[in-house]
Amino acid sequence: MAVLVLGGAGYIGSHAVDRLIAKGYDVAVVDNLVTGHKAAINPKARFYEGDVRDTDFMNEVFDWENVEGVIHFAAFSVVPESMKDPLKYFDNNTAGMVKLLEVMHKHDVKRIVFSSTAATYGEPKQVPIKETDPQVPTNPYGESKLAMEKIMHWSDIAYGIKFVALRYFNVAGAKPDGSIGEDHHPETHLVPIILQVAAGERDQLQIFGDDYPTPDGTNVRDYVHVVDLADAHILALEYLKQGHDSNAFNLGSSTGFSNKQMLDAAREVTGKPIPAVMAPRRAGDPSTLIAASDKARDVLGWAPQYDDVKEIIKTAWNWKQSHPAGYNDRGGQA
Ligand code: NAD
Ligand code: UDP
Repeated sequence: MAVLVLGGAGYIGSHAVDRLIAKGYDVAVVDNLVTGHKAAINPKARFYEGDVRDTDFMNEVFDWENVEGVIHFAAFSVVPESMKDPLKYFDNNTAGMVKLLEVMHKHDVKRIVFSSTAATYGEPKQVPIKETDPQVPTNPYGESKLAMEKIMHWSDIAYGIKFVALRYFNVAGAKPDGSIGEDHHPETHLVPIILQVAAGERDQLQIFGDDYPTPDGTNVRDYVHVVDLADAHILALEYLKQGHDSNAFNLGSSTGFSNKQMLDAAREVTGKPIPAVMAPRRAGDPSTLIAASDKARDVLGWAPQYDDVKEIIKTAWNWKQSHPAGYNDRGGQA
């Protein structure tokens, strides 16, 4: 039976596909390549190019593949873009989930592991954030993902489709051998932008806001390595296969790093000066996001290997240096 990975050509999805194959799973990938890269998909996976919202296409994929479970990464995930164009997010992310669950229900597929996000919590009242804390998103991206969690909840009650929602905090790093990594156009995430400055592709880093209620005034985030994150999906799939009920887990390190601390760590890892300037706050950014992630460790048996942001940055720098133009498949696009 196959594990169907939606969004398997993307940054996190490609690492999950790679880990699934390394662990002996039979893997099929659906991706429309809107932000993903064909070259990122492990060649041992079968690849179907198409859109999750295209019900005819998805029904065909589920006819061809004997799907034991779905891992769903396919979504838009850029907070500032979601502030400017929320409907794009509710269409691709939220409406996409409705279409997907219809097809899963029709084909009697009962397991889904879902990429949720810390952005569903919004501005937390306390840190570290527990899974039971209120989910009050501060941006449409987080709202679109919270709605997806709720749609899965009601589909579980009505149709018995069991889900695990994995609420990632900040994902960074790359496969240690440097063969796959993060390549977004345009890039919006902090770590790859810092490394673009280190590589001389940008003049300077803009740090968005230094007047937050944090020790150095810049936002605090909790970083998790992409390979550790990928492994959590496999544990979640096995958890559902063991017959457990639907559940939600934070995936983070339980340690916060400010944007300034990330810059300093990257300067140390790369040995580059990495010029930086302070810039206004970015709309929709919560001040501090730190996960309580003992539940994933206790219940799923998740044992992340990376507990040091410098080690995480080192793997991203390795990818950056070995692939200065990323996958180099976007022509003249920025
Ligand atoms: P990504 O953009 O690299 O990957 C998403 C993949 O899904 C891409 O390959 C894209 O082409 C594909 N896709 C998007 N919409 C599709 C559709 N309608 N049909 C088929 N394919 C589609 O993003 P990523 O950074 O790998 O993130 C993956 C998931 O993790 C997203 O759902 C995101 O919300 C979630 N997430 C990411 C982070 C992070 O720090 N990167 C943090 C929290 C949650
Ligand atoms: N950030 C920044 N400059 C950049 C990109 C990001 O200061 O060029 C900050 C951003 O405001 C946030 C943190 O880095 O405080 C992490 O942002 P990212 O987009 O990587 O992830 P998010 O926390 O939004 O999921």
